[in-house]
Amino acid sequence: MPKESAPGERRVALVPSVIEPLAKLGVKLLMEKGAGENSGFDDTDYQGVELTNAGTLYKQADILLKVQPPSLDEAGKLKKGSILLGFLAPHTGDSRIRKLLERKVSAFAIELVPRITRAQSIDALSSQASIAGYKAALLAASLCPRLFPMLTTAAGTIRPAKALIIGAGVAGLQAIATTKRLGAITEAYDVRAATKEQVESLGGKFINTGVKAEGEGGYARELTAAERQQQQEVLAERIAQADAVISTAAIPGRPAPKIIDKATVQRMKRGSVIIDLAAESGGNCELTQAGKHIDHHGVVIYGPENITSTAATHASEMYARNLYNLLVLMIKDGAQRLDWDDQVIADSCLTHAGEIRHTPTRERVE
Ligand code: NAD
Repeated sequence: MPKESAPGERRVALVPSVIEPLAKLGVKLLMEKGAGENSGFDDTDYQGVELTNAGTLYKQADILLKVQPPSLDEAGKLKKGSILLGFLAPHTGDSRIRKLLERKVSAFAIELVPRITRAQSIDALSSQASIAGYKAALLAASLCPRLFPMLTTAAGTIRPAKALIIGAGVAGLQAIATTKRLGAITEAYDVRAATKEQVESLGGKFINTGVKAEGEGGYARELTAAERQQQQEVLAERIAQADAVISTAAIPGRPAPKIIDKATVQRMKRGSVIIDLAAESGGNCELTQAGKHIDHHGVVIYGPENITSTAATHASEMYARNLYNLLVLMIKDGAQRLDWDDQVIADSCLTHAGEIRHTPTRERVE
């Protein structure tokens, strides 16, 4: 298991608490020195793991655990016929994918793991999204010049802040739970009708725009122009009232839907905050620029990049546990056994034996 090389990535794919379970699978563990440092784990915490340098690791590892996709250089160093597990961003990096084909790597993209009940313990999109939602709420609270909770003090009473969460998927629900815990009055909105009950069970108020857009597999679909207009009319009013907006809306495989336009931001109070978790896929707010704090008429719009990395210890623990649960399906008595009849193995496979197994990627790259 190597140290992550992508700029700003603090997570690590192997944490001390999974060493024992992994050893029980019969595998010998190799790790690059210092790989856990940025996540809060010292080399000495990795008892029973052989520490080495990156060169030896790439030469020897039959199974490589990563957080971020390997760089082109790293992909070229992978042992021929080895297994690679990690976020592999199958929609980008064609030259990296060609390199994986050349090395006949069996690459499994954790983001392609089907979101079926049996695979919940492998669902790294969910484990990392909950952290993102939690952290987004904390960011909103710290950037907002108003307090979130109601405070009754000798200096008077402070009214609670109003938080609005757009998109009540995994990240959004955790953001709702966190803003509620901080004492903010919380409203939320999603185009999937099923989320109303989930929002209310967390103590949030559901905003009904009359637009319903369930897509395939429990996800949302893109809205028509008329639906967007209808959504906009109701939401703009609620956004204008909010002290903090956290937006998390996403459509699989598509750019983030634009929900907050410039005119709506201009209606917000000075000192209000928008945390746009969709920044890396284009942003839910027209003014978002990934990684930058934008001040527009006193409203701060911030679209964090790799926000999960800011909680690297727990993000790594959850992620490493997801990878372990995937490995359990692949290793029998210390040896690799890839069961292609298992939907989790088949669906998450990006490349194997010199072929692209993920259809949309194959159609794009070949
Ligand atoms: P996501 O990150 O793709 O999207 C986030 C949210 O944005 C979704 O709730 C979506 O409905 C919403 N959205 C999209 N367009 C919108 C718009 N124009 N306005 C407002 N909201 C909009 O989704 P996710 O959080 O990864 O998961 C979403 C679904 O997947 C949920 O139904 C969740 O329960 C399900 N899920 C199932 C499993 C499982 O069964 N193992 C695991 C995780 C998630």
